[in-house]
Amino acid sequence: MVSLSKDATISDYSKFIQLVYGMQNDRFYTIWDMLDNVQRFSMRCVKGVRKEDKNKTRINALICLSWYMSLMNRLHINVDDSIWHRFPYLCSYCGECPCACKAEKVKTRRKVTGNSSSMPKRIKDIQEMFMEIYPTKARTKGDAAIHLAEETGELSEAVHIYMGDRSDMHFQKVSTEAADYFSCLMGVLNSISIDTGNEIAKLFSNNCHECHHMPCICTYEHVCNYRS
Ligand SMILES: [Zn+2]
Ligand SMILES: [Zn+2]
Repeated sequence: MVSLSKDATISDYSKFIQLVYGMQNDRFYTIWDMLDNVQRFSMRCVKGVRKEDKNKTRINALICLSWYMSLMNRLHINVDDSIWHRFPYLCSYCGECPCACKAEKVKTRRKVTGNSSSMPKRIKDIQEMFMEIYPTKARTKGDAAIHLAEETGELSEAVHIYMGDRSDMHFQKVSTEAADYFSCLMGVLNSISIDTGNEIAKLFSNNCHECHHMPCICTYEHVCNYRS
């Protein structure tokens, strides 16, 4: 049996997802299938916000996070590095914490560099970092959900472009968009006061959250018809 601790790091989470879902991912799912599932569950998460259904928002955020990690594993993207490169405890656009994009009417992206000694490791701490950069009181839940939808589209576009030419430059763009997507997912979870570390520990206390096997034996059909 494998499980996740509430103090899991991104690297622990990535390894867990690989152990539990790596086999089925390799057998059943192309990059496109995984990207589809990221989009599918992200949009259900957005629907949860519109319906003011905290539970629907929470579970779909957790499921799209697991598909996202499967996709990152397939592409061998180090999510920790991507996030820190983009958000070194600072807004990736204005370079401040908390973000001052609105107040300072920042029009062009500033160069952002951080001090690696403050790099958060646990998923809990990364979520807290995003709370400090983008405090929830500065925007509505609806805005956080719209931003997640935007970034879902941008991640998808980046993957499409990369798969078109397989260039290093476009691979880097996927990595950047992956960090933006993660920040927006944390934004939605912060908006509904969900502790992601605790929630993934609960969801993944015993192998796959659906079939409870390791590796997962959920059928393709089961995943296609999954209700959440
Ligand atoms: Zn900003
Ligand atoms: Zn399963």
